[in-house]
Amino acid sequence: MNTEPDCLFCKISSGVIPAEIIAESQGAIAFRDIDPKAPTHVLVVPRSHFADVSVLTLSDPNLAGELLALASDVARLEGLDDGYRIVTNTGEAAGQSVAHVHFHVLGGRSLAWPPG
Ligand code: 5GP
Ligand code: ZN
Repeated sequence: MNTEPDCLFCKISSGVIPAEIIAESQGAIAFRDIDPKAPTHVLVVPRSHFADVSVLTLSDPNLAGELLALASDVARLEGLDDGYRIVTNTGEAAGQSVAHVHFHVLGGRSLAWPPG
């Protein structure tokens, strides 16, 4: 497992920092966002450290698929039958604040498109 000692999501994945875990797979973990932007707001992250989705897909495309599968599981477990959104911010200009790739799973309310 490749982890970075100072990375927040590496620490959550390894249990060093607590979070409310919703679902897990071999290579990924899903936990509630600490500052939810919707009634359901869950983050899906790989256990290993990859800076963003570009690095992840180049390094381990199978793991990228595993993350999307876990995000779908989260939507089902959270009862998001009316619809949900999966978002991954890449780079500072797009609002990425944690440099460990993560998919936001958002749902439970009407989600405007395009986002502001
Ligand atoms: P980004 O802004 O990088 O796309 O998403 C980072 C997300 O991580 C934000 O939605 C933020 O609320 C969430 N976050 C930041 N710190 C923590 C934390 O310590 N625990 C949890 N569960 N979520 C966090
Ligand atoms: Zn990390």
